[in-house]
Amino acid sequence: MIRVQSVAPDTLGAALGLIPGMELLAVNERDLEDFLDWEFLTADDQFVLKARLPSGQDVEYDIERPEGLPMGVTLEAPRIRRCANHCDFCFVDGNPLGLRQALYIRDDDYRLSFRYGNFATLTNLKPWDLARIVEYRLSPLYVSVHATDPVVRRWLLRNPEAEAIVPQLTWFAERGIQFHTQVVLVPGVNDGAQLARTLTDLYGIGGAVLSVSVVPVALTEFSKHSLVRQPTRDECRAAIATVDDVAQRALTERGSPWCYGADDLYLQAEQALPPAEWYGDFDQRENGVGSVRYLQTRIASARDQLGAGDWQGKHIGVVTGTAMGPLIPQIVADLTQITQAHFEILALENPLFGPSVTTAGLLPGKAVLAALQHRRDLDLALLPAESVNDDLRFMDDVEAHELAAQLPMPIKLSYDFADALTNEEVAV
Ligand code: SF4
Repeated sequence: MIRVQSVAPDTLGAALGLIPGMELLAVNERDLEDFLDWEFLTADDQFVLKARLPSGQDVEYDIERPEGLPMGVTLEAPRIRRCANHCDFCFVDGNPLGLRQALYIRDDDYRLSFRYGNFATLTNLKPWDLARIVEYRLSPLYVSVHATDPVVRRWLLRNPEAEAIVPQLTWFAERGIQFHTQVVLVPGVNDGAQLARTLTDLYGIGGAVLSVSVVPVALTEFSKHSLVRQPTRDECRAAIATVDDVAQRALTERGSPWCYGADDLYLQAEQALPPAEWYGDFDQRENGVGSVRYLQTRIASARDQLGAGDWQGKHIGVVTGTAMGPLIPQIVADLTQITQAHFEILALENPLFGPSVTTAGLLPGKAVLAALQHRRDLDLALLPAESVNDDLRFMDDVEAHELAAQLPMPIKLSYDFADALTNEEVAV
């Protein structure tokens, strides 16, 4: 059963009289378990919908859907599939107390993997899920592989029941499902020869594995440091060398590098990032792979609009995490040249998670407030848009408008600078 949260006007759902709170029970006699059933089973031109009104009365709709008319129904949030693993490096264990409740949920949900690109391990799939992924063609999925050696993978996931991943991916590949995959690099466990084996095994599955990213493990001061540590500079360099070997082979044989180090891997290795062309369509940008080059590309393509903006001589603060601190000057140099504004980079340490958590997306609102509340010299501050959720709340539940009210300068949330400075993004 799924429940209606809202119905947009001028849609089929509104014309039928669907209302918030209504339970959607079945389409063509097939029970509705979640949003995937709803989306796929109502995609036909004709179907019969069984529903239950908030009053408890059952109703049935014989629906003929005019071409192009959306259902317009937003469903209540699905119940998230919980994770069956206990990784030593789990980000949930690394969370301090006092965050938004959702941040303590260990999700491992193939449905969110398909819909939103969340990485899932596929270790909690039931036969029904396997059939569903194939029937609905939930592709591409984003899969945390970590290691293809089954013993090493079970160790990393702390899950003795975890299925061997290569046969599992191969089974899906034979049925037309594709994957973007990641390896979280844990030194002494899945680096070195294990990393080489993992990349070779994934490459051997063929074209169904669309990409692999190698991401250095990220720990906070609350993580299980007695069990897992971050890679050293030289270990990151060795991992990049292994990635490059496979990438060169893929480039020759398949026309794209296929295998990528995360920006953070290059940063920790103190090596230059590959050029933008290396990343193709930036498929794993959301996973921190090619993010810097992507930003530079976005800025270059917005050059005309940025140049036409009235930014000359303005003093603009750019708030980010310490990870991007050393990388942002490359981006800001382009911006300065185009806009003639002065950009000041404010790379903030994360007081909530500790200094080892360096990503801008995990910055708490209180850290931003502390950094900006006395800065009367700034004409504008750009904040990382990925550090707030859909309700504009930071990790620590501070709301963006409430933050803005306490600051002496206007702020804008920005994904890529170009959005905020060309006024695509609304000021908070
Ligand atoms: S797979 Fe590992 S890292 Fe991911 S939620 Fe589960 S325990 Fe945490």
